[in-house]
Amino acid sequence: MEDLCQGAASALRFLEGYGVKPTRIIDIDIVDRVSEHYGNKALGSYDLENSRILLMSMQDMTEKLAVSTLYGQAFDRIHYRSVVAHEVAHALFHQNSPNARLTNAAQEYLAYVTQLAVLPADRRQQIVEHAGVAGWESGDSISEIYMVMAPEQFAVKSYLHFTGMNDPSAFVKVLLNIKWFYVYVP
Ligand SMILES: [Zn+2]
Repeated sequence: MEDLCQGAASALRFLEGYGVKPTRIIDIDIVDRVSEHYGNKALGSYDLENSRILLMSMQDMTEKLAVSTLYGQAFDRIHYRSVVAHEVAHALFHQNSPNARLTNAAQEYLAYVTQLAVLPADRRQQIVEHAGVAGWESGDSISEIYMVMAPEQFAVKSYLHFTGMNDPSAFVKVLLNIKWFYVYVP
């Protein structure tokens, strides 16, 4: 419970800095399993119909799903909190975007940026080095296909792109108002 609250609070703090605030209560259901996402083991998901986050307990993640590592590191409570933060970012996206149903790439960009941002700096640095990629560049298209094939690289490319921008708040507005499946990097 403490990890859930800490993870959620860290996401709220981070995103508030970019003008993204909750418009209503965010509910989290602890469930036995979460359906797979494109054949990838999903640790959590956002239930659009009922506006609730579905998340497995850390114990179930490690025992039932046999999750032992994340991004090349031993999976522990710090990672669990970051997974909570990822799902809270999805919930906030839905509350603040008029087109949230269509825009998976934009959502995942912000969710992964949040997930990495709430980690301690040394953990994040190790992940960035492990992924071995640079941030998205002008002209790239941030796509869900890339994310499905390489979630760790997608996360790191998004984080590096976000933190390298002069005005990330303006880009967050772009993400929230996007109307298409992918994000074209300006
Ligand atoms: Zn996600």
